[in-house]
Amino acid sequence: MSDAEPSTTLHRRSCNLCEAVCGLQLRLRGNEIISIKGDPDDPHSRGFICPKALALKDIQEDPDRLRQPMRRTATGWEAIGWDEALAEAAQGLAAVQQRHGRDALAIYWGNPPTHQHGAILAMTPVFDALGTRNRYSAASADQLPQYLVSQQMFGNQLMFPLADIDRSDFVLMLGANPLASNGSISSGPDMPGRIKALKARGGRLVVVDPRRSETAEVASEHLAIKPGGDIWLLLGMLGELYAQDLVRPGRATQWSEGLEQLPALFSPYTPERVAADCGLPAATIRQLALDFARARRAVAYGRLGVCQSPNGTLTHWLINLLNLLTNRLDEVGGAMFSTPAFDILALARLFAGGGRYARWTSRVRGLPEFSDELPQATLADELLTPGAGQVRAMLLFAGNPVLSTPQGQRLDGAMAKLDFCVAIDFYINESTRHANLILPPLTVLERGNYEAAVNSVQVRNIARWSPPALPVPEGGRTDWQILVALASGVLARRGQVLRALGLRALFGLLPPDRQLDLALRLGPHGAWRGRAAGMSLARLRAANQTVDLGALAPRLPEALGRRKVQAAPTLFVKALLALQPPCPATPGSLSLIGRRHLRSNNSWLHNSSRLVKGADRCTLLMHPDDAVARGLVDGTPVHLSSRAGELSAPLQISTEMRPGVVSLPHGWGHVSPFTRLAIAGQHAGVNVNTLTDPMRIDLLCGNAAMNGVEVCAIRMDRT
Ligand code: SF4
Repeated sequence: MSDAEPSTTLHRRSCNLCEAVCGLQLRLRGNEIISIKGDPDDPHSRGFICPKALALKDIQEDPDRLRQPMRRTATGWEAIGWDEALAEAAQGLAAVQQRHGRDALAIYWGNPPTHQHGAILAMTPVFDALGTRNRYSAASADQLPQYLVSQQMFGNQLMFPLADIDRSDFVLMLGANPLASNGSISSGPDMPGRIKALKARGGRLVVVDPRRSETAEVASEHLAIKPGGDIWLLLGMLGELYAQDLVRPGRATQWSEGLEQLPALFSPYTPERVAADCGLPAATIRQLALDFARARRAVAYGRLGVCQSPNGTLTHWLINLLNLLTNRLDEVGGAMFSTPAFDILALARLFAGGGRYARWTSRVRGLPEFSDELPQATLADELLTPGAGQVRAMLLFAGNPVLSTPQGQRLDGAMAKLDFCVAIDFYINESTRHANLILPPLTVLERGNYEAAVNSVQVRNIARWSPPALPVPEGGRTDWQILVALASGVLARRGQVLRALGLRALFGLLPPDRQLDLALRLGPHGAWRGRAAGMSLARLRAANQTVDLGALAPRLPEALGRRKVQAAPTLFVKALLALQPPCPATPGSLSLIGRRHLRSNNSWLHNSSRLVKGADRCTLLMHPDDAVARGLVDGTPVHLSSRAGELSAPLQISTEMRPGVVSLPHGWGHVSPFTRLAIAGQHAGVNVNTLTDPMRIDLLCGNAAMNGVEVCAIRMDRT
C-alpha cells in the first residue's frame, strides 16, 4: 500500500466476481471505499475492468447484507449470536440425520465458493464429514459435461483444454459469449481487446450461436445455428475431414488411444446429412471444416450454450476430437492445458482419482453421481418423493437454487416443507428465506483470497494473493470457519466426538492459508521445486499484484501420468451410436435459450443499484418475423408457457435472434415474499427456470438442458 492522497490509502487486489480476475485498485478512506478502478500496473489485466467490479463496494455497503446470524421466527427474522446460531444449526441438522439417516440432508452450493481458496479447501472434508450422498451444486447446470469429458478422455476432470486465443489464427467458438462473460473455462481480462488483437493479426473468429450475441457482433463470422445443433455441425465437420483426408493428429498419435475407431464413427456423417439438424447450409459446414483444418493455428472452443444442451457431453467430446484430429490439442494457438501454481489438476488426481463417475445413482430418478455430486435437476424430486432417504433438511452454501435449477418454483414449494434448513450466505434471497438459520460469512474484502480454481482456467498462467482490504468486523467468520464449526458440531451431536476433534485439529494446524502455501511451494512453479518463480504465499504477498507465469505451455504427455488420451471412450461411442436426430418441434412453438449480460452474473448482483439501473434487461428477445406471426408488439408483455410452467415477460423484438428462437436471461425473478433484497425487488424480472424442464437433461451426466426448451408465446390478452 502507498499513501498517494492525504488520508486515503491504495489497496491492490483482484476482482473475484467472474473468472477473469482483473487487477483492481481500491482507494480507501479508513474503512470507506472511495473508488474502484482497474489497476494499470497489473500484468494480467493492464487496467481493464468491467462495470461489475463496482459491485464489490455495493455488496460491502449494502444495508440488506447480513452482518450477524439470523434466526427465522413466526413473525420474521431476529439477529442472534454466533455461538447460539452454530449450536442451533448443528443441532437441527444432526437431529434430522439421526431421525431419518445421513442422506436426509441435502447440500447445495453455488458458484461463489469456487472463487475462494478457503471454501474450496474446506468443502470436501466438511461435506464428507456430513456424510450425505445428496450433494448438489451449480456445476450440473453449467460445466458438468466438461468435467465428464475431461475425466473420460484425460483421466482428470479438471484437465480442461483451454483456448489459446492470444496465439491462435482461427477460433471456432460454440455457445460462448466472452464479451459478456470475459470468458469461462478459457478466461482472461479484456476479451474485447483479445478478439481485436486476433483480428488485427489476420486471424478469424467464427461464433456459432442461435443469437447474434455481443461476441458474434464483433466476430469475423456468425453462424446462427439451431439450439442444440452444435453436435450435428461437429459431426458434419468431422465427417468432412475424413472424407477430404484432412485428419492429421500429429504428435497426438503417440499419446492417444482409440483413434482407429473414429473413421467408422464419423465417416457416415456428411454436411448434407446434418445440415437440417443444425440449421446451417451444407456448403457452410464443409467450408468451415476445410478452413479450420487448413488454418495455421486453430482452436475449437465450446462453453455454456453447449453444456446446457441435451447432448452437451457428446458435443464437448467432439470439440476435443476436432482439436485432436487436426493437431490442435496441446499445441500453441490451439487447445492447451494450464500449469497453475496451485496445481489443482494434480491435487484432483492425487486425492480424487481425477474424478469418478456413476458409482451410485440418485434415489428417485436413477441419475449418475459425478465425483460425489448428483444432478441438480433431480433435487426437487429428492425433497418431494417420500421413502427412505427422502431429503428433509438442507444446507445451502452461497447458492440460490430456486432461481438456478430447472422448474425452480417446484423446488421453492418443496423447500417450504423442509424440517430444517441452514444457509451460509449474506442475503435473504429466494432460497435462503426457507432457512431456519442464516450464517453470513465475511465478504471478500474482509479476508485474504487466492483464486485456486479460477487461476487454472485462465488463458495465461497466473498467481495472485489478494490481502484483506478491510478489518474483520467483531465476531466475523470466514466461510471455511463456519463450515468447519458447523460440521464438527454435527459430528459431535451424532456421537462422533473424535472425528469432530480431528476436523477441528486439521483446520487448526493447517488452516487454508497454510495449505495454500504448501501447495504453492510444492507446485510446478514452487520454491521447494527449485523453480525460478520460487512460488510461495510469502512471495505472492510481497509481489502485491498478479504474478504472470507465462503463456500456456505444452503439458502432454507428462500431465497424463501413465495413461493416454482416450479418443474414443466406450461411454461416448455407445451414446453416439445411439444418437437420434432431434424430434420435430411442435408446430407454432419456439425454442428458448438463455443469455448473459455484462452487468449481471447469475443471480448474485441484482441488489446493486448501479448494475441494475437503466432499461429492463429481463426481456424476451424475439425475431420480428415471429412477433408479427403472433401479433406481438414490442414492449408489451407476452405469455410464455412450457411443459414445466408459465410466465409473462416484456417483449423485445430483435433481429439478433434466429427465427424460431427466443431468449430470456437467467437469475431474475426476485418476487418472493420474505426476502431482503430491496433493489432487486424493484427490478424483479421473471425466473426463466419457471419454464425449464427438470426432465430435459443431458442423459450421460444429468446436466440440466436449459437451452432449446420448447415454449409457446401468445399475447397476454389471449391467455
Ligand atoms: S471482468 Fe470479471 S474480474 Fe474483471 S472486473 Fe469484471 S467482474 Fe471483475
